Amino acid sequence: MTTDETTQEIALITGASRGIGRSIAAHLAGPGRFVYINYQSNETAAKETLAAVNAAGGDGALLPFDVTDAEAVNAAVKQVIKEKGGVDILVNNAGIKKDMLMVMMKKESWQDVLDTNLTGFYNVTKPVVKKMLSKHKGRIINITSTSGQTGQAGQVNYSASKAGLIGATKALAREIASRNITVNAVAPGFIETEMTEDLSEKQLAQIEQTVPAGRLGKPEEVAATVAFLCTPEAAYITGQVIGINGGIC
Ligand code: NDP
Repeated sequence: MTTDETTQEIALITGASRGIGRSIAAHLAGPGRFVYINYQSNETAAKETLAAVNAAGGDGALLPFDVTDAEAVNAAVKQVIKEKGGVDILVNNAGIKKDMLMVMMKKESWQDVLDTNLTGFYNVTKPVVKKMLSKHKGRIINITSTSGQTGQAGQVNYSASKAGLIGATKALAREIASRNITVNAVAPGFIETEMTEDLSEKQLAQIEQTVPAGRLGKPEEVAATVAFLCTPEAAYITGQVIGINGGIC
């Protein structure tokens, strides 16, 4: 995408208050870009992301909403369209996990994870893509997971949501490629964020043994790929799933 000084590019990143989303916001930030930082409740952390965006020479604003709340999402996207004319780059990053073996998994844990990780994509993407279609311009990047590619024991809900997101990415890419809009998925493996903070020493040692690279990944290693997918050089990449996983799959 071009970033000349006369046209400001508008990016919206869901779940950008912490972890991978924050790093994506910082990587996308720069002159000629305005970054909307979405989060659910952690305003203090979201303000730190905004500071990182500003430190990178970019401009941005906080945009709180719960991705599961379609009405709140529609109101926020309407506000963005009024203020900035639309969204050029959408990163569907907000996600949660509620891990449990299937036999013990409550319906609520299944539903919450599907609602956030998959229906959240639908809620945000639908109003954003409508405007992209009329502008004949856009980049959509969905943050899925290795779990959605291979399945992960203890994560039947999470794996299902992330596999669903891969299917949605590929289908939407086919629907809108002719309108100059690309849709791709980035699939991280184990990345050092609050989401993986609860892993025990034993689990970490196991991961380090299993991952060919012998370590967890860093949020910036995911963010750099997302940023590449937003460059003019990536215009012919669509419907793809790009793994950032140290060789685990
Ligand atoms: P974190 O738990 O560090 O951060 C999650 C972010 O999502 C926060 O900004 C949080 O906002 C936001 N969020 C959660 N629920 C909602 C909601 N309903 N509406 C809006 N925002 C919400 O996660 P990571 O950075 O680790 O993960 C980011 C993405 O990457 C997720 O989709 C995750 O599944 C995926 N991923 C992560 C991996 C990892 O190893 N870390 C591996 C593979 C994929 P708030 O701060 O307000 O709570």
